[in-house]
Amino acid sequence: MTGVVPALGRTALITGIGGQDGSYLAEHLLDKGYRVVGVVRRGSAVPARIAHIRSRIELSDVDLLDEGRIADLLLAVRPQEVYNLAGHSFVPSSWERSDLMADVTGLAPARLLEAIRTTDPAIRFYQASTSEIFGNALESPQSETTPVNPRNPYGAAKAFAHFSTVNAREGLGLFAVSGILYNHESPRRGLEFVSRKVTDAAARISLGMADSLAMGNLDAQRDWGFAGDYIRAMWLMLQQDAPRDYVIASGTLHSVRDLCRVAFAHMGLDYERHVKIDPSLVRPAETVRLVGDPSRARRDLGWEPAMLFDHLIAMMVDADVERYRNGRAHVGQPEPGAG
Ligand code: GDP
Repeated sequence: MTGVVPALGRTALITGIGGQDGSYLAEHLLDKGYRVVGVVRRGSAVPARIAHIRSRIELSDVDLLDEGRIADLLLAVRPQEVYNLAGHSFVPSSWERSDLMADVTGLAPARLLEAIRTTDPAIRFYQASTSEIFGNALESPQSETTPVNPRNPYGAAKAFAHFSTVNAREGLGLFAVSGILYNHESPRRGLEFVSRKVTDAAARISLGMADSLAMGNLDAQRDWGFAGDYIRAMWLMLQQDAPRDYVIASGTLHSVRDLCRVAFAHMGLDYERHVKIDPSLVRPAETVRLVGDPSRARRDLGWEPAMLFDHLIAMMVDADVERYRNGRAHVGQPEPGAG
């Protein structure tokens, strides 16, 4: 670990700091005066998403599968807050190695919680949970009381992590919360995710670099928001008097077709002229009507999403256009092993 420790302020440890959410959360916490320590994957270069704040954060490459080393890290860093954002998050590739998915996404949070219990039970713990735990949702919209019913290995691993967090809170008395976040996007989203795939293609097509875009199911619907808004909710959850789980969502469904229409229209293009359906991109088991009810977050945390769908997509297209025009470094390359 390297870096300068400011004299004042709280310390936060972020696993997965090199991801979309980790990078936004690190910026948010630095702005608030935190000392920020991040865990990155062993052997990886400094991720592009945190290159601009590299001199202001400390990094460790502790293996999240090694509970002993996690405990040592907690003792060395002495954080007041731990945000567990590490893990693979692309659903299709979770079918290929469901055992790895279970280990990193499912079991690592349980190891972290155990390390917190044995080193410093006063640490406040945030678990990055997901709407995918509702899977084939038993009601719509979903809230914190909706039964968990995952439909893919990613959702199943996240469901285990979710219940580990609930149990650590209710059984061990830890301040452990699970933020059940719906899809959240940004110009830092990986290119394998549908939002960024579409905004990147709209940019390339508008610049004459490509002509068509192969897509899967255009009728699939998601509840999409802006990652920069959602990480504010993570922080708010750890500042409450009592730990609770929260659904963080926009509360509005849009189809992939809407996404294509808005992204292409922003560049003066008609998506129907460029989007082609490729049946190999249609998913075998699709989650249905995943739309969140963020009432509890609104009430307890005073949280509202500031950026709505059309603005978000237009902002992402603009960022992709600018990146191509300036030949800037690419942010959001697919994770290793992502499909
Ligand atoms: P997810 O909600 O975590 O699976 O996030 P994604 O951004 O990967 O996908 C959202 C939805 O877009 C799913 O319902 C997909 O079936 C749908 N979709 C349609 N075409 C595509 C495509 O070409 N790529 C991806 N990734 N998703 C697509």
